Amino acid sequence: MSSAEAAILRGHNFSAGPAALPTEVLEEVREELLSYRDAKASIMEISHRSRQYTEVHENAKAAMKRLLGLGDDWHVLFLQGGASLQFHQVPLNFLGPGQTADYLDTGNWSAKAIKEAEIVARGRDGASVNVAASSKGADYTYIPGPDERQLTEGAAYVHFTSNNTIFGTEYASEPEADVPLVCDASSDFLGRPIDASRYGLIYAGAQKNIGPSGVCAVLVREDFLQTRQDGLPTLLDYGTHAAKLFHTPPSFAVYVLGKVMDWLERNGGLAAMAERNEQKAAALYGAIDATDFYRGTAREDSRSLMNVTFRLPTEELEAQFIRESEAHDLLALKGYRTVGGVRASLYNAVSQEAVDALVSFMQEFERANG
Ligand SMILES: *Cc1c(COP(=O)(O)O)cnc(C)c1O
Repeated sequence: MSSAEAAILRGHNFSAGPAALPTEVLEEVREELLSYRDAKASIMEISHRSRQYTEVHENAKAAMKRLLGLGDDWHVLFLQGGASLQFHQVPLNFLGPGQTADYLDTGNWSAKAIKEAEIVARGRDGASVNVAASSKGADYTYIPGPDERQLTEGAAYVHFTSNNTIFGTEYASEPEADVPLVCDASSDFLGRPIDASRYGLIYAGAQKNIGPSGVCAVLVREDFLQTRQDGLPTLLDYGTHAAKLFHTPPSFAVYVLGKVMDWLERNGGLAAMAERNEQKAAALYGAIDATDFYRGTAREDSRSLMNVTFRLPTEELEAQFIRESEAHDLLALKGYRTVGGVRASLYNAVSQEAVDALVSFMQEFERANG
């Protein structure tokens, strides 16, 4: 099958996650699937201690660090349990007795992270979780600004969700704080450059923007790592994984993720990605704002480049929109189950061409039904 044929076979995928991967990456995987280089077996079938897999693993880490401009003081870990396990593992490591952790609540995923931190805090004398700001009262339609944040002096860390996959909001830049930031970056990680010096730890479930499901990337800075608690369960102690490859990693997922890192580097890195992502989002928000038929749900200053959420005049029209979009090979546009409406996820692997196809469909749909 040629790339052109694959492009026809593959619809325009707007899934929120697991989400689109670059077609080139999948083609490379297909090429190597039965026998990886000189291994004479699939990468799935060989030891995680083998020369071949060790190279894959180390290359993926090194490429990720190059993309972000990280120095030797950063550890890159490829863990299991998804971003959801990180909700618990972060406070377990870094919220000690007598300490407070600040959390910024901007959506379902933030709320889940807060819930887990509270569980940890209850088991530790004098530990507490401070919800420093929340947009829950406004249905999570915006990112609370600095004047709405009640940060704690000397907090162990400030946790935030850089992009809110469900509500279509995103921080324009890192929140100000005097202590290390901890970020759930699952749905915008490597979609744009970040100021790494502000962070102690960043985590991202791979299946949104950087790879397949099954692996969660965790980046932790050495000096922050040193502030963790003692006596943690071995597998939940970040120190275990920072010291060495402790046990079997999700090797196939890491292998695909590594190919996505190479693809990002070949395509100009994070600055180029940010530019592409801004153009894609501008095209779609432009189409939404051009008419009263479509209505964006996020406040304009908080709009996400990654997940664009919008409504139509009625739920009936929304259902019809989703049905007809599928017939046009525009995939997975249905909004999150508890929120409804339409959501188009425009991750790195989603092309401008896909967005243009969506915009033309929207214009056609309005002409027929508006
Ligand atoms: C999808 C998502 C999660 C949950 O990830 P899992 O890997 O399924 O645990 C957490 N945070 C954000 C921002 C997400 O988009």
